[in-house]
Amino acid sequence: MALQGDFREHLLAFQDLEIEGNLVKTASEISKVDALVIPGGESTTISKLAKSFGLLDLISERIASGMPAFGTCAGMILLSNSIVDPASSQDVFGGIDMQVRRNAFGRQTESFEADLDFQAIGEEPFRGVFIRAPWVEKFAPEVEILASIESGGIQRSVAVRQGSILATAFHPELTGDRRIHNYFLNEVCGK
Ligand code: GLN
Repeated sequence: MALQGDFREHLLAFQDLEIEGNLVKTASEISKVDALVIPGGESTTISKLAKSFGLLDLISERIASGMPAFGTCAGMILLSNSIVDPASSQDVFGGIDMQVRRNAFGRQTESFEADLDFQAIGEEPFRGVFIRAPWVEKFAPEVEILASIESGGIQRSVAVRQGSILATAFHPELTGDRRIHNYFLNEVCGK
């Protein structure tokens, strides 16, 4: 989804995996895709643009009816069913039965990198790039936790899946490691 954010980096990641993605932003384009990636960026901006382009209900309905979706950082926020203290009138597409906290890691750690244990993609740790990242504050039993990170002595979930929806609080599109994009294609989309 090419409304705002680092959608080009996602396109490059899929190109490395020999999948030609398309940049989409209109209702007619979005109604034709097989799967949708919601990039990192600024979730308030993306949701305002989605609203003014008339995309909110279309995307929510497509996700609810099983279209695979992958969101990173701002994209994770938009795929959550609710936000702790949402900015006034911030809409989400929803899909994952969880509540996220925006900018959760606070000022001291606005941006950082960390090695994550992400067993679904293999033994080798995945380098997570976190930029004003959210974390998952609460989640339903149906939500599968794929990776967590310790912050302030508490394990915080930063990669989750519920059925055909995948979300990470960090940015796999910004590293050369394509294992999470590959996981999305092979395990979540079933390609
Ligand atoms: N903090 C941003 C938001 O709330 C997300 C940042 C990001 O995508 N890197 O939308």
